[in-house]
Amino acid sequence: MARYTDAKCRLCRREGLKLFLKGERCNTEKCALERRAYPPGQHGQGRFKRSDYGVQLREKQKVRRAYGLLEKQFRLYFKKAERMKGVTGENLLSLLESRLDNVVYRTGFAASRSEARQVVRHRHIMVDGRIVNIPSFQVKPGSVISLRDKSKNHGRVTVCAEAPLREPPQWLEVDRKEFKATMVSGPAREDIDLQVQESLIVELYSK
Ligand code: SF4
Repeated sequence: MARYTDAKCRLCRREGLKLFLKGERCNTEKCALERRAYPPGQHGQGRFKRSDYGVQLREKQKVRRAYGLLEKQFRLYFKKAERMKGVTGENLLSLLESRLDNVVYRTGFAASRSEARQVVRHRHIMVDGRIVNIPSFQVKPGSVISLRDKSKNHGRVTVCAEAPLREPPQWLEVDRKEFKATMVSGPAREDIDLQVQESLIVELYSK
């Protein structure tokens, strides 16, 4: 599967927002955005004015990059969100937030979404007692996410679970001792901490 392999910190610097793509490093003074809070590249420190399109594009890129998706995958999520009842932008964020890799990241069993994706791909995670190794799997309210018994001694997962980098959101009930989490409700917009104006993404794709 194609994926982004270039420097991750460039993405945060481009968006001017911490996307927390590198786990522990993001909370230290080594964070590239703390040290160089301007866009990457030769003209990063120059003055420029953004068009309406440019502003909308940046909002879309923020979300797409935070969740580690390619454009085609992101568009499919948008189409699905459009078909759902309710506000399209909020549906989009809720769909992305319910991805299994994101849920594992939110539980704190992985330091970043890319690490969570690897944990899922390597068959460490079960949903309702069954192994699921598909990062895009949509977790439903009431589902229980757990670590396989033989994965409970997995070095990185244990380290992350013992010293989580963030508190789990309200829609997740986490039992760290048992390496288990229950999705108690669907993620609502106010529970998603990403600083983004999702309505601008809807405007961008509605052109
Ligand atoms: Fe972004 Fe983390 Fe890099 Fe900081 S350290 S720029 S938050 S990926």
